[in-house]
Amino acid sequence: MAGCRAERAVPRDQAIPMERDTGHTGQRRLRYRRVVAKFGTATLTGGGIDLDRARMADLVRQVVELRRLGADVLVVTSGAIAAGRARLGAAPVRRDIPYKQVLAAVGQIALMQCYDELFRQHGVLIGQALLTRADLAMRQGYLNARNTLLALLENGIVPVINENDVVAVEEIKFGDNDNLSAMVANAVDADALIMLTDTGGLYTADPRRDPSATLIPVVYTIDRQIERLAGGTGTALGTGGMRTKIDAAKLATVSGVDVLIVPGDAPDVLVRAACGEPIGTRFVAAAGQRAGRQRWILSALAGRGRIVVDDGAARALLRFGRSLLAAGVVAVEGRFRRGDPVTVVTQDGMRIACGLANYASTDLEAIKGRHSDEIEEILGFAYGDEVIHRNNLVLLAKDLASE
Ligand code: GLU
Repeated sequence: MAGCRAERAVPRDQAIPMERDTGHTGQRRLRYRRVVAKFGTATLTGGGIDLDRARMADLVRQVVELRRLGADVLVVTSGAIAAGRARLGAAPVRRDIPYKQVLAAVGQIALMQCYDELFRQHGVLIGQALLTRADLAMRQGYLNARNTLLALLENGIVPVINENDVVAVEEIKFGDNDNLSAMVANAVDADALIMLTDTGGLYTADPRRDPSATLIPVVYTIDRQIERLAGGTGTALGTGGMRTKIDAAKLATVSGVDVLIVPGDAPDVLVRAACGEPIGTRFVAAAGQRAGRQRWILSALAGRGRIVVDDGAARALLRFGRSLLAAGVVAVEGRFRRGDPVTVVTQDGMRIACGLANYASTDLEAIKGRHSDEIEEILGFAYGDEVIHRNNLVLLAKDLASE
């Protein structure tokens, strides 16, 4: 264990909120004290078919450097499926989930072995955490994951996180590490989520197809215009995988986390981004650090449970700080239990709030659009008038016109 202890971390309130140290020493200073670094498959493979060890060594070196500067760093890594495919050799190209699970089961070992060897060269220990959406969808699982990740950091160990692809079938998976990394950033109360990608930022158009596309350096609000750049609300297709990145950025920024999408192959990019150099696109945190309970409620953005409300109900929530009543509910999407975090959306898809559902989705389906007085008669029981109590709501917009 000698040499595996963390360098002493800077207390949060002493992290220096500056753009960049321009002092003569060349010593960089952190802008962010707790960082989630997300490495995508293309960044880890360099576009090849297997993990690129030299690239990974450089990423590991940067993580170690950030720790030396005083940061807590958590790594969210892809690459298991790619590594599995490479290990299985001339595997037929199959894209079905069971086969991907085989690839992930094989590849996760190769991936972690590589990280373990590379971090050990710096005397740093890593700990593996494999998570699914279902693990984090329950308050207890969310808190357990948070506690373990924070305990790893306290012990000077770098958490290396991936989706547990082996068990993650459609209903319970994130499916992409963008949303997983945002959930991790939310859960550990990170200051920044830095996503290393091959696209390198958000552009005004797809830079691979449109030569006039320009990089957007800073995004203050993820409004509809920004969502449209990523491929439009609710579509699975995005500009270079941007759709899931924007979704992830939404979850992280409303949780109080800055999100940086940066080119994974730029020299020293992780360190430079964490020190505040303007690289790629920065999505500015939409709120200060949120209380734990609020962050938990906001984790609904990574889930599938949605309550669609009419404009009257939306205004009552946003303008007058009211609770959501059954009468204003027009549709229920996804399955959720009583107490689960859900997203409240308008009929045209604007996400206006997250909250804890007071009724399970199946019950809500039966009482939607009905007057509160009728709930008991319809269900045979009632948990109260509110579908979401205002004390359990976190608003995402100021008004219907603000997005
Ligand atoms: N969990 C997948 C892997 O390790 C990657 C998912 C993603 O790239 O977003 O291969």
